[in-house]
Amino acid sequence: MAILYDAAVYDRTLSAGSYWETTAVAEANYPALAQDETCEVAIIGGGITGLSAALHLARDYGIQARILEAGGLAWGASGRNGGFCCVGAAALGGDRLLKKFGQSETRRYYQAQREGTELVKQLAAEEAIQIDAQGDGEIEIAYGGDRWRGLVADYEFLTEIADYPCKLWLPKDLAEQVYSNPGACGALHIGVSFGLNPMKYTLGLASAACQHGAVLHSHSPVEAWEKDGNWHLLHTPAGRLKAKTVIVATNGYTEDRLHPQLGDRLLPLLSSIITTRPLTAAELEAQGWRTETPIHETHNVLFYYRLLKDGRLLFGSRGGTVGDRAENERRHRWMVQAFQEKFPVWRDVEITHSWNGLVCASATLTPHLGRLTADESIFYGFAYHGSGVSTGTWSGRALAQLVTGRAQVRDLCAIFRQPLKKFPLPALRIWYLRATFTLADLLKLSL
Ligand SMILES: Cc1cc2nc3c(=O)[nH]c(=O)nc-3n(C[C@H](O)[C@H](O)[C@H](O)COP(=O)(O)OP(=O)(O)OC[C@H]3O[C@@H](n4cnc5c(N)ncnc54)[C@H](O)[C@@H]3O)c2cc1C
Repeated sequence: MAILYDAAVYDRTLSAGSYWETTAVAEANYPALAQDETCEVAIIGGGITGLSAALHLARDYGIQARILEAGGLAWGASGRNGGFCCVGAAALGGDRLLKKFGQSETRRYYQAQREGTELVKQLAAEEAIQIDAQGDGEIEIAYGGDRWRGLVADYEFLTEIADYPCKLWLPKDLAEQVYSNPGACGALHIGVSFGLNPMKYTLGLASAACQHGAVLHSHSPVEAWEKDGNWHLLHTPAGRLKAKTVIVATNGYTEDRLHPQLGDRLLPLLSSIITTRPLTAAELEAQGWRTETPIHETHNVLFYYRLLKDGRLLFGSRGGTVGDRAENERRHRWMVQAFQEKFPVWRDVEITHSWNGLVCASATLTPHLGRLTADESIFYGFAYHGSGVSTGTWSGRALAQLVTGRAQVRDLCAIFRQPLKKFPLPALRIWYLRATFTLADLLKLSL
C-alpha cells in the first residue's frame, strides 16, 4: 500500500488552507528540476528536516545539496503545524524510555531536544529569520486527580533526569498566569519551549539554505528511485537527479513505495487545527487570558492551543483516519464544538481557518535518525510524533554531520538510532490507529 489516506491528503496542488499561509511573504521561486543534474547530496523533502540538513551542509561544510520537494517548500507538516517549538518527539513516556534505554541515554535524548529548541532560536538569529517567537516555555494542564499525579511524576522526571527548568502550578497559579480554568487541577510549566510561526520559520530556512548555496527544487516529486553502481538516480517528472548520497526527509508524507527499506515502517496520523478571528482585549479578559505560552492538556483527547501574535486562538487536536472531504467537514464541526465547549465565552467567535496535515509515528514510538545498513549512502530522519519543529531542526543538523563524517551513527543517542522496524501486517496500520483511538476513548487515555 503506497499511501494510507485519501489521495487529497497528498495532493500538492491543494494548499493547506492554513492561517500561516496568510502571514508569510510569498514563497521565493524555487524552480522544479527541469533537466538531468548531478550533485553530491540529494535531499528528498523540503520541510524543516530537509532544509535544516541542506542549510547545515552548505553553510558549515560547503556542500551544495539539492532538495527535491514534491509540493512547494514547506508544503508538508512544517508549514502547517501548531508552531509549538517544544520537546516530546517520542510517544513513549519518560518512565518507559528510562526502563528501555537507561538513565544516561534518556538524559542525552532530552538534552538533544532542548538543544533543538535552542538551535531554532540560534538559526533565526544567525540567518535573520523572522519567526514571531512567543511565550516562555510550554504549559501542560491536568484535569482529574490521576492526571495531576501524572504531571507531578512528569515534573520529577523532567527536573531530575532531563534537567529542565520546570514548575508545578496549582489552580490559583493557573488563573494568575494562564487563564481562568476552574475545572483544572493544575499545570506543569516546562521552561524550554516557545511558540513560533512555522511557515515563516520553514520558508526562512529555505531562503537561508539557498543563500548559502543549496539548490532547492519545488514541484519535483521523486517518482522512482534507481541505483546505478554507486550513484542514486532520482526520477522526477521533468528531470533526473544523480547523487552519491541521499537524505530522506519525507516524514509523514513518506510513501511506502519510495524505498523498500523504508516502506511499511512509518505510520502517518492526521492532526487538525482551527483558528479564530483576532480576539479583542475585552474577549481575552472575559476568559481571564494571561499568556502567549503554548498550552496542551492531559485529557482523554489531546487539545493544544496558543494565542497568536494578532490575538487569534489556534486550537488543535488529533484528526480523522480517512482524510477525504466528507471526513474533513465532520472533523471541522467536531473541532468547533470542542472549542466552544472548552471556551464557552468565545462560543460566537468566528472560526476563520481550518486545516489538517500528517504527523509521523514509528513502530518503536520513538524518532529515527540514521543511515540504512543495506545501503550506507542513504540517510534518514523522521517520526517526531507531532513534535518536529525543534527535533526536525536538530535532526537536520545531525544528518549534515553524519553525511560529512563529522559524526557517526554510533555517536547518536540510542533512542534515535534504533533500527527501523516494520509494522506487523502493515496494510492494517490504519485499522490499528482506529482501534487505538476507540480504545483510548473508552479507557479515557490521552491521545
Ligand atoms: C496539524 C499539525 C500540527 C503540528 N503541530 C506541531 C507543533 O505544534 N509542534 C511541533 O513540534 N510539531 C508539530 N507538528 C509536527 C511537525 O510539523 C513535523 O514533525 C515536522 O514539520 C516534520 O518536518 P519534516 O521536514 O520532517 O517533514 P514535512 O514538513 O512533513 O516535510 C516532508 C516533505 O516531504 C515531501 N515529500 C514526500 N514524499 C516526497 C517525494 N517522493 N518526493 C519529493 N518530496 C516528497 C512532502 O511533500 C513534504 O513537504 C504538527 C504537524 C501537523 C500536521
